[in-house]
Amino acid sequence: MGRIARPPSSVCILGGGWAGLSVAFHLQELASRMQHAMRMHVVDKEAVGEGGASAVAGGLVHPFTPRAKKIWMGDAGMEATRRLIRVASEGRREEDFRAAAQNFPSEIELLRLEDDPSLAGRTSLEAFSPAALAQGSVSQQEFRRAYSSASGSSGWSGLSVNGRNYSRALWEHCKRASGGGSIEWVRRDVGGLADVGDLQAESVVVCLGYGSVMLRELQGLPIKCVAGQSLEFVRRGDEPSDLKVSLLAGKYISPLRDGDRLRLYCGATQEHGTVQELVRRGADVEKAKQELIPELTALYPELGTDCWAPTKVSLSLLPCRTAATDSPWQSRYGIRALTSRENEGRLPLCGLLRSGPGGSMLSNSDVWVLTGFGSRGLIHHALLGEMMAKAVMHRDPSHLPPELQKSSLFT
Ligand SMILES: Cc1cc2nc3c(=O)[nH]c(=O)nc-3n(C[C@H](O)[C@H](O)[C@H](O)COP(=O)(O)OP(=O)(O)OC[C@H]3O[C@@H](n4cnc5c(N)ncnc54)[C@H](O)[C@@H]3O)c2cc1C
Repeated sequence: MGRIARPPSSVCILGGGWAGLSVAFHLQELASRMQHAMRMHVVDKEAVGEGGASAVAGGLVHPFTPRAKKIWMGDAGMEATRRLIRVASEGRREEDFRAAAQNFPSEIELLRLEDDPSLAGRTSLEAFSPAALAQGSVSQQEFRRAYSSASGSSGWSGLSVNGRNYSRALWEHCKRASGGGSIEWVRRDVGGLADVGDLQAESVVVCLGYGSVMLRELQGLPIKCVAGQSLEFVRRGDEPSDLKVSLLAGKYISPLRDGDRLRLYCGATQEHGTVQELVRRGADVEKAKQELIPELTALYPELGTDCWAPTKVSLSLLPCRTAATDSPWQSRYGIRALTSRENEGRLPLCGLLRSGPGGSMLSNSDVWVLTGFGSRGLIHHALLGEMMAKAVMHRDPSHLPPELQKSSLFT
């Protein structure tokens, strides 16, 4: 390949969702350790914390598959994510913390509730139905014991984070930690690699989520897209809620504080189509209500009572902004990028783009790709962001797991 091992002095990261921010964070950390000054641009069509699936996600992170097995690199992923969340929150000045992130990090316990009859250990799990748990007839400790024995895991815990606040905190950390280098957020809609040619990056890292397959050079990536909508509810009146943990049984309910009020982030729908169709389609709140409300109220019956009111989301989200309406109902809409299912489940996708026709036409830059996080971006973004940073710094794709480099577009 004739590659030189000198680390790049300028890097352009396309996409500032969790994948892009994690790569930025780990690149900075490596550069500082190597005392290497690096100029970095993060290019995104949206503002920090407002773009892509990361801005609409429920924020649940745990190391299990829907069948209660460990997800690919689940424990390592969990550890890396915990560390990144810790660093992002610790680095904050107190006033930033109060202003922007009153509910960050919301390290509440996550319970996974599952009534899938094909699960091992189903007898004990069936006794712990979501409704029984929500009504308090089964204690959380009892449920956890049952879950642990069914999943073969000795301990069970997950996290819920406010994804948008997490992104902002991570970005603030990157800005503060840029040391001898620099980092800048560039608002730009990118259609092809030539659109960032003016930034003269020696390495480009494509972390555009669903947008990766819309990039001219990456249209052959083995990724399909699935949109998801979520709904939000606020607590009426001053009565405190009894819901202190996130509930997850196919659909999820995640309680997060928003200032003085408690909000429930509830999701998510699964909507199929080509990426172009999904981008065009955008939010459809009636569809979201139809798919979500029956399952959500079965999971947490109180949601169907007067205690909770549907609320407009605090942010209009791309790719399709929600139309202004008088209805109190509004949904958040995002698009997930998924790879095909394999023995180990759906694995993310990463690699170094081939150069020349059919690949990267940026002759002076390495072009890396990190996408395909599906519905589980939080468990893998930190770990893979770290591996990608090593690959970029050493200009060597062998730092990336071979099982994730599955595209004919990669070297
Ligand atoms: C409704 C829903 C709920 C979810 N819940 C969870 C959950 O609870 N836990 C979990 O772990 N995962 C969840 N996910 C999945 C998770 O959101 C994704 O796996 C993760 O956000 C992917 O991160 P990313 O950085 O790869 O992509 P994205 O977050 O999509 O980031 C891509 C970035 O690129 C930018 N971009 C895209 N195209 C362009 C372009 N042409 N030019 C410039 N910028 C562009 C976007 O603005 C965005 O900032 C959920 C997803 C959805 C849709």
